[in-house]
Amino acid sequence: MIISVVSGKGGAGKTTLAASIAYVFGAEFYDLDVDAPNAEYFLQPEFADELPIVQPVPVFDENLCDACGICTKACRFHALYKILKNVYLSEPLCHGCGLCEMVCPQKAISYQDSAVGVVRSGFSQRTKNLVHVGDLNIGSTRGTYLISEMVKQIDPGKLSVIDGPPGNSCAAVAAIKPADLVVLVVEPTPFGFHDMKQTEQILIQMEKNYLVIANKSMDENDVDKFFQNRAKKSSLTISLDDRYHKANLQGEILSQQFSEIHSGLHTAISQEFVIQ
Ligand code: SF4
Ligand code: SF4
Repeated sequence: MIISVVSGKGGAGKTTLAASIAYVFGAEFYDLDVDAPNAEYFLQPEFADELPIVQPVPVFDENLCDACGICTKACRFHALYKILKNVYLSEPLCHGCGLCEMVCPQKAISYQDSAVGVVRSGFSQRTKNLVHVGDLNIGSTRGTYLISEMVKQIDPGKLSVIDGPPGNSCAAVAAIKPADLVVLVVEPTPFGFHDMKQTEQILIQMEKNYLVIANKSMDENDVDKFFQNRAKKSSLTISLDDRYHKANLQGEILSQQFSEIHSGLHTAISQEFVIQ
């Protein structure tokens, strides 16, 4: 069973709550916010393994290639282009699908591995479970690939919490895809609500079971007003509280420190999801 924690807007408290949920249920943790992973700040795992992640990309044998252009037309990601008699690859666009090699009549294409990032894994004494952190190489645009490779490692038979990337990009969708339940964290501000609606549309289109948590609320009336005419209400509202802010700054897990957060998360999630 997989719980993905996402938010339309960055800074809503997604990672804070993902770590808290992992603590409540003692879940394995996957930090898929690969551009800027920081859940380890709360979970404090002792890293023991580091797994390099590579993606195969095409290379061209200039002696065999006759510049027919078949591969450039076949690539649906527009990663290949031809200038005069040479074929070039725009590496960030390549998905490593293998189609160009299959269609090349001259057998001029082979593959080589290109480094994407690493996955660090270790045990957290706080959650009493494993933590896996995806680190995308600086400058790499292949966050979605790294996330997809990490998702393949998740055992659906275990309870896992994913901290997804913020926003509504392909990378966010890749982190939502394996989820049995999505926790959508919204900061109850005009920007937060605006971005939440976009993420919600994605969840509806993907037919995902989801719940909403309003985090850092300054006025519960605003939250009630926003959700008044909406099919999905907020399952839990967490107030903007100095105590939570200070605990966050000290790297504490909120559900470990505050019983109201622990019970609130436990109730909200258990209502949607039977934890074995
Ligand atoms: S491997 Fe796939 S995505 Fe990459 S260049 Fe070839 S056809 Fe395009
Ligand atoms: S399909 Fe093969 S021969 Fe044709 S342009 Fe591409 S690499 Fe060259």
